[in-house]
Amino acid sequence: MFEDTASALFGVEGLQVTDVEAAPDGGIEVWVVTACETAAACPDCGTVSDRVHETVVTRPRDVRRAADAVDLFWVKIRRKCGNQKCPRKTFTEWVPALPPRCRITARLREQAAHDVAHRGITPAEAARHAGISWPSAHEAFAAAAGPLLDQDPAPVAHLGIDEHRRGRARFAVDEQTGEYTLLADRWHTCFFDLDGQQGLLGQVEGRTADDAAYWLAGATPAWRDAIRVVCIDLCSIYAAAVRRVLPRATLTADLFHVVQLAVKAVGDVRRRVVRARYGRRGRSGDPEYGIKGLLVRNLEHLSPAQFAKIIGTLDRDRYGQEIATAWIGKEKLRDALNLRARVTGSVPCERQVRDRLFSFYDWCAQHDDIPELVTLAKTVSRWENEIVAAVITGVTNATSESLNRLAKLEARLAYGFRNPSNQRRRVRIACTRGYRRRPRTATSAETRMVTGRKPDPG
Ligand SMILES: [Zn+2]
Repeated sequence: MFEDTASALFGVEGLQVTDVEAAPDGGIEVWVVTACETAAACPDCGTVSDRVHETVVTRPRDVRRAADAVDLFWVKIRRKCGNQKCPRKTFTEWVPALPPRCRITARLREQAAHDVAHRGITPAEAARHAGISWPSAHEAFAAAAGPLLDQDPAPVAHLGIDEHRRGRARFAVDEQTGEYTLLADRWHTCFFDLDGQQGLLGQVEGRTADDAAYWLAGATPAWRDAIRVVCIDLCSIYAAAVRRVLPRATLTADLFHVVQLAVKAVGDVRRRVVRARYGRRGRSGDPEYGIKGLLVRNLEHLSPAQFAKIIGTLDRDRYGQEIATAWIGKEKLRDALNLRARVTGSVPCERQVRDRLFSFYDWCAQHDDIPELVTLAKTVSRWENEIVAAVITGVTNATSESLNRLAKLEARLAYGFRNPSNQRRRVRIACTRGYRRRPRTATSAETRMVTGRKPDPG
């Protein structure tokens, strides 16, 4: 315990404040001496020594006082070991907050680590604020993050799998042919908790079926059995991995990506038709160009005037009618997807979903002169079971996508990462921050009371 109020205010166990002065640069200088019983014991043999060899002043770094820097001056004694058999001749005093050879207080390291892990700033920024080097801040963060990330994830009912590009793809020009060749394109496969709060569960380098299966196979059988639904983008590689390692889980396709495919098909038709009609790409002033923003919207979100504008533009000639056919195809597909409980309020039966998908296929078959619609119908039919499962279960990969955004933000804040394991650690911490943030409890009246003063009995 602290013996005087100045030491209590300074708050490093084992150090006693002897003097405080204003520093010339606006900070403060704090002079301390050792006030710790164990500090006089030899670290090798434990003999308590009272023989002074010399007095030294060290200047370890410590946390700021508000915005001001604190210059710490620690007057400590180098003692001679009294034990004749001890190999150590002399030793200096140390306290747990400042172990031997340590020039940064434990609380300053903790603060830097906390800033990176919980406030989402980079180690470089935390180091600048703390007045320490990048390696010190990074090491403090890595040491603090390790135990947090080593905990086994709790059981997950809905698992999301998504890929995430690590940095940019690198190309080189082939000297002989003059063509670009791909040098490196590195990916991470990420696993997400879609129904709970655990965020990013883990990452593995690469994006092949084996990479994904490797991570899943590393989990305990009980954890794998707890997974009911796995949601993926329209990616056959991950589908193969899930079918291999999690044969009992229901596989669902993320519906956002299904709609995205349909919207892309409409855009492709529009561009091809405009090129056929004008012999050039579309430009502002073309009627088709004026409605391109409206065509990507959901039908139910169009105002009557906007709807009339689309119909008026597309009804004019056979070119417009071709775009309209693709657009109707997209809406027919969305009709099936809109059966999900989030839209209708009740879980649909499988028959209903398949009926509406059939109506979409039927429309595409009637207009098989539009190649984009045929391709879309083929893709949808290949993923039909997964799409139906997604509509029935209502599980989407939205959480994965939002966490992927965080992962990209982290890479940008760092101006890219050289070291993949540093990147994984930082991304994982960023994507599980919400899970670790404990709800604040209201301060009870008891803890608010000033300690030391007895409540008035009257
Ligand atoms: Zn000794």
